[in-house]
Amino acid sequence: MREQVYQPEKIEKKWQQIWEEQETYKTIEDVSKPKYYTLEQFPYPSGEGLHMGHVRVYTIGDVIARFKRMKGYQVLHPMGADAFGLPAENAAIQRGVNPKEWTLKNMERIRTEQKRLGVSYDWDRYVATCLPDYYKWTQWLFLLFYERGLAYKKKAAVNWCPTCNTVLANEQVEDGRCWRCDSEVTKKELNQWFLRITDYAERLLQDLDQLEGWPEKVKMMQRNWIGKSKGAEVVFTVPTLDDAKIPVFTTRPDTLYGVTYLVLAPEHPLVPQLIKGKENEQKILQFIEDLKKVNEITRTSTEEEKVGYFTGSYAKHPLTEEDVPIWVANYVLMDYGTGAVMGVPAHDERDFHFAKKYHLPIKIVVQNQDGYPQTVEEMDQAFTEDGILVHSDRFNGLQKQEAIQTIGKYLEEIGKGKRTTTYRLRDWLISRQRYWGTPIPIVYCDTCGEVPVPLDQLPVMLPEDVTFNGKDNPLTTSESFVHTTCPKCGGHAYRETDTMDTFIDSSWYYFRYVSPHEETKPFDSKLVNKWLPVDEYIGGIEHAVLHLLYSRFFTKVLYDAGLISFQEPFKSLLTQGMVIKDGAKMSKSKGNVVSPNEIIEKYGADTGRLFILFAAPPDRDLDWSDSGVEGSHRFLNRVWRLVQQNLETLRSHPEIKVETDEEKELRRMIHLTIKRVTEDIELRNNFNTAISAVMELVNKIHSYPEKGNKGLLKQAIETVVVLLAPMTPHITEELWQMMGHDSSIHLQEWPTFNEEYLVLDEVEIAIQINGKIRGKKMIPTSYGKEEIEKAVLDDERINEWINGKQIRKVIVVPGKLVNIVIG
Ligand SMILES: [Zn+2]
Ligand SMILES: [Zn+2]
Repeated sequence: MREQVYQPEKIEKKWQQIWEEQETYKTIEDVSKPKYYTLEQFPYPSGEGLHMGHVRVYTIGDVIARFKRMKGYQVLHPMGADAFGLPAENAAIQRGVNPKEWTLKNMERIRTEQKRLGVSYDWDRYVATCLPDYYKWTQWLFLLFYERGLAYKKKAAVNWCPTCNTVLANEQVEDGRCWRCDSEVTKKELNQWFLRITDYAERLLQDLDQLEGWPEKVKMMQRNWIGKSKGAEVVFTVPTLDDAKIPVFTTRPDTLYGVTYLVLAPEHPLVPQLIKGKENEQKILQFIEDLKKVNEITRTSTEEEKVGYFTGSYAKHPLTEEDVPIWVANYVLMDYGTGAVMGVPAHDERDFHFAKKYHLPIKIVVQNQDGYPQTVEEMDQAFTEDGILVHSDRFNGLQKQEAIQTIGKYLEEIGKGKRTTTYRLRDWLISRQRYWGTPIPIVYCDTCGEVPVPLDQLPVMLPEDVTFNGKDNPLTTSESFVHTTCPKCGGHAYRETDTMDTFIDSSWYYFRYVSPHEETKPFDSKLVNKWLPVDEYIGGIEHAVLHLLYSRFFTKVLYDAGLISFQEPFKSLLTQGMVIKDGAKMSKSKGNVVSPNEIIEKYGADTGRLFILFAAPPDRDLDWSDSGVEGSHRFLNRVWRLVQQNLETLRSHPEIKVETDEEKELRRMIHLTIKRVTEDIELRNNFNTAISAVMELVNKIHSYPEKGNKGLLKQAIETVVVLLAPMTPHITEELWQMMGHDSSIHLQEWPTFNEEYLVLDEVEIAIQINGKIRGKKMIPTSYGKEEIEKAVLDDERINEWINGKQIRKVIVVPGKLVNIVIG
């Protein structure tokens, strides 16, 4: 028989078409089987198509989906497009193209590329967030939040990206820069929509503990972002004003003995009384007047000069009862906290500079293990590290955390304050002054004010008659959109022209996949409760505090609204590492990009998939190597030839007989390989070691003797092909068919192993040192000379006999003895 050559370009297209025609990967709703929902983060349809990072995510998800199907699960494995976003609009501004057409074209291209990878998606469930049949429900969910008091509009100083021409959420600002374009973010005072995620801060924090399948690193990032800090409200009093109270909030009650002054916001209601008749009265009144012209962002910015005045009055320290001078300064705001802060210059950087500037005393109350800082003279900045309390009366010697609790408790006992909890998390700013997003379904009526659009009037469609001038929010240029009638009174009303942050679209897409064609609600609750939470979610760590936090928030709100029965969306999370080449992440600017299409054309998708899975465990960075790709391709060729050369055996039905040592060893290897591959995929997502195990089995088959039992040889080769099926779906399907099978390999049952066959037949051999028998050791009968020598030299007991002496020679007589010559 003439051998066929492995031609991936031919077989891959063929099988992709057959799978599509036969709906091989259609989701089966079969209650008799356990469910498994595997999900990869859906891509943004940029104009550049897929990159290797995408290929990695999809391949990982696909192996899991295929493996679970073969294991007998009903599997949900969908795909879609996170299709709203700025690049579409920028293309409209720069090149005059229609954002919708641009996006749909890119979506089509990406879908084609995903299909070329042979990923087993149920394409019937494709979801695109920019289409009205999706964003109608995004609006519906916004109104649900609105109705529950979780969506509100307020005037606030917000992050503004001058390049993107829009506001950003706190989560989207990294080191003062825009997450998307890296421009420096400025502050702007605007009337904006927020979602009240802070209401969920404690639950978002607590429930992290349940997420055993999440990487510790991601949970830590969320914990830090939520930033729960315990502190205290401390009450100072003013004896000259009838013991008027000045409460201050501090996260560092442990430094209470280091307070050397208080600072009030100039607008603080006590200020007029505190300054009355004092030396600085006129100056401070003028100061208050001047500050009215300065906005609060400038006042609190780190660059702004801190200016303050002594009021002339003193407060009483709640613990020491000493007099503490009261100041006013520009950096304290009345509508933040209590409008008063305590000054602890030794242990707070801002206070340190303020005290230096105005020659206020500095008092050290925390030292590190080495007793630093001992004196104020040796300090050129505040000491803000953790340490031990000093000069703090009865609290001396306490550690910081302990002191925070103890002092807080003591304040409660003496009625001078209370312990409090604060969070760093702020409400989620979701307004965007851009076109290509979900319109916020609110109108403004002169008579009725803010009115939500009734559900039966959804979706509020994005208008087409807009102008993209690169300056104004395009929605404001559409007359047909801006003017509408009030749903309440029928009078004239204006539509909200802000659109929603695209992170809202992606906060719920995994719900939509479950019933993507549902026309009466965002999702079918019954089906969602069946399929969710997602069993394995695969995506990048860059979303740790963005998408992953927002999705958890959405899920909890939907739970509270009675729409779903679970509180966490993703049971397990796999954050894949980066794809690196020549020491850097693949990027256009570095010129080290390898395009997926190039690899598919040259070697086929299966080789690309195999290399990506084999080169590194999924959570580690993957170093791209051309020789590694070629190695993967050679291996697939080897498997191909193995099948070709044994076609006759594979198509016949030889009986399995296991008698000789070689046969026992091959049987053991078959079962051991099944065990290793199954456990590597199922328990550890270690696809790389699973592939090595299959490679070892292939080696074993090559060394299997010609006269060995054919039934066992057939079983071994079939095992190789079936175990590789989730990783390299096309070649295995082709080989499976060549072997004479009618149905798809991807519908086969995953093979099982028999523990009994894993046990090695062993024989006792004598161990000699310099010809003298020193002991005995059990060695598997199947071992060759090298394996025996290795097993003996790895034995700790035998190493003791050798006692570090040089080994001159090792003589192995299989089945009998090993003589080690030392000296
Ligand atoms: Zn930007
Ligand atoms: Zn009205």
